[in-house]
Amino acid sequence: MKWVNPTGGLVRGTDPMGSGEFGAPRGGRDHMGTDYLGVPGQTILWVCGGKVVKIGYPYSDDLRFRYVAFKTAEGHYVRQLYVNPDEWAVVGNEIIAGREAGILQALHGRYPQIKNHCHVDIKLDGHWVDPETVIV
Ligand SMILES: [Zn+2]
Repeated sequence: MKWVNPTGGLVRGTDPMGSGEFGAPRGGRDHMGTDYLGVPGQTILWVCGGKVVKIGYPYSDDLRFRYVAFKTAEGHYVRQLYVNPDEWAVVGNEIIAGREAGILQALHGRYPQIKNHCHVDIKLDGHWVDPETVIV
């Protein structure tokens, strides 16, 4: 299966808001995804192929931010956060790795000093997968 870096950027290292690595501490929990650095307004790519299952809001108290979620043929449940969805990003549509998922949103309105990024998280059979083990 083909996996694609969603921004073409590096993994977010540590900034004043924390680290973008998989498993990085976030207060009482861990960061169960990986953050890929990008520039607000840039095109975000689907990290894998599959079928769109949800266009959602990562924060119920802040509807400025969106995510796109899809399922792969192998059963991975994948979310890509801080993406203004492309018009093709509709539940039920088939998607292709590397095609446009949407446009990266600016995060400073919620997280001052954070480095803008696309967050990717992946679950398979109820277990978190480190995106860096598949997006290489
Ligand atoms: Zn993240």
